[in-house]
Amino acid sequence: MIKDKVALVTGGTRGIGKSIAQTFATNGAKVIFTYHSSALAANEIEQWGKENNYEIFGIQADASKFADAEKSISFTLEKFGRLDILVNNAGITRDNLLLRMSEEEFDSVISANLKSVFNYTKCAVRSMISQKFGRIINISSVVGISGNPGQANYVSAKAGVIGFTKSVAKELASRNITVNAVAPGFIETDMTKKLNEKQKEAIISVIPLKKIGSPEVIAKAALFFASENADYITGQVLCVDGGMTM
Ligand code: NAP
Repeated sequence: MIKDKVALVTGGTRGIGKSIAQTFATNGAKVIFTYHSSALAANEIEQWGKENNYEIFGIQADASKFADAEKSISFTLEKFGRLDILVNNAGITRDNLLLRMSEEEFDSVISANLKSVFNYTKCAVRSMISQKFGRIINISSVVGISGNPGQANYVSAKAGVIGFTKSVAKELASRNITVNAVAPGFIETDMTKKLNEKQKEAIISVIPLKKIGSPEVIAKAALFFASENADYITGQVLCVDGGMTM
């Protein structure tokens, strides 16, 4: 499905990004993933690639910095000569009620979750336009659709990612570049493990499929958007959330 395609995944050392990077590699893609500070985890993924004959390499880059996005795209083009699939996955949370939320908490979350998507997409499209092919997949969140108390910063960013996805999808459709978003519900990763059992139970009670998702369910959705099965789909938001957002 994506054999020999070149993919770049931001935030690929843990959770959803790691699962997407490894799923793409096991499906035959050549993969570059970025990370912010987890050099050890990046080495382990590269080692996994070596042991299994997959081409998968990490690069340290702060997704909120435009210069680091440029560096990541150059690294990908130097290594593999093209870029077919971009997955904007890197993200953070800094939850707080609005009255207590600092300007730094708002700005840092917008930078890591939304500005990062602008940075990487802008840097990636030049080569996608010249090769007349590209698949861009942005990881939003169901809270970007529904809103969530304590997450005004994160929700603003994730709603922004949806708006960005639709606008850029319209701009790039004539170049055979599709741009879609995956909106995960509640997925078991480091980002959600700070919740206590009571909070988890409350969340599960509002999920029709009555379970928390694994990172792999998001990787499968990303693989679908990256594959030829989704060639005629652009500007869409796919909720992968056990039915939470109906
Ligand atoms: P996670 O386990 O906390 O992993 C985050 C990844 O992003 C790590 O690889 C981290 O790198 C990287 N990262 C963070 N800030 C970065 C930056 N400034 N530059 C580059 N990389 C950065 O998170 P996750 O749960 O897998 O979430 C992945 C995406 O899914 C995020 O966009 C998140 O908002 C979204 N999402 C998650 C859930 C959920 O329930 N988990 C639900 C909806 C949406 P380091 O390891 O170096 O820190």
